[in-house]
Amino acid sequence: MLRDVMAELRAGSDDFLMMILSSPSGAGKTTLCSKLRKEFPALAFSVSHTTRKPRTGELDSREYHFVEEPDFRKLVEEDAFAEWAEVHGNLYGTSLAEIERARQAGSLGILFDIDFQGARQIRARVPEVISVFILPPSMEELERRLRSRASEDEPTVQRRLAKAKLEISNYSMFDYLVVNDDLEKAFERMKSILVAESARRMRKSALAESLLRRGRL
Ligand code: ADP
Ligand code: 5GP
Repeated sequence: MLRDVMAELRAGSDDFLMMILSSPSGAGKTTLCSKLRKEFPALAFSVSHTTRKPRTGELDSREYHFVEEPDFRKLVEEDAFAEWAEVHGNLYGTSLAEIERARQAGSLGILFDIDFQGARQIRARVPEVISVFILPPSMEELERRLRSRASEDEPTVQRRLAKAKLEISNYSMFDYLVVNDDLEKAFERMKSILVAESARRMRKSALAESLLRRGRL
């Protein structure tokens, strides 16, 4: 049943927006995501499953569904994920149930904060998905932001910096590149993308057709 969700999304091409936000760790994706969620409350946020331990201030089922690895592997076996990947030594996945919940709730769409491996998998299943990659203005600034977050120890910072180049090298798979130099400007760019994407012909053609059916224009 849940597996049908992706097929339905592909076939429907309806006005349910699916947007992926990716970036190297520290570029500001979480910050931009939470600003978008505030501005567009009708947009659901996909709460991923992860085997990573919660950081200070993170709540189960708010930032992530925090699970142990055997439970995560069981969900993989049950085909419960739209995508999943190993990122920075932990497992992360987007459950099909999360997407279905957002659709059932009548949300405007759903926002995925996932890495490039997950973006590739979702794009393969739902080509209409909108994908945005956030770039830092420079590698120096990326390092500064990673350190300023102060939630990770030095080896973690080093590991994430080393991985940043690999992540950036996948930029060409994304529809949009947004440079997060000034936060407010980057946010304006993100909002423009959402507004423009929601006006795409394929999302509004059902309305146009129903207007044609109903009367003389
Ligand atoms: P990510 O989710 O991509 O790992 P975060 O959103 O956690 O990154 O941001 C990393 C750090 O950089 C945070 O401390 C955040 O407040 C800061 N930050 C985000 N965007 C900007 C910006 N445009 N200018 C300066 N600092 C920023
Ligand atoms: P963090 O541990 O800092 O919250 O996230 C680390 C990385 O994992 C980020 O790049 C984030 O986008 C990615 N991530 C979070 N959830 C998922 C998910 O469900 N699937 C995939 N593929 N990546 C995810």
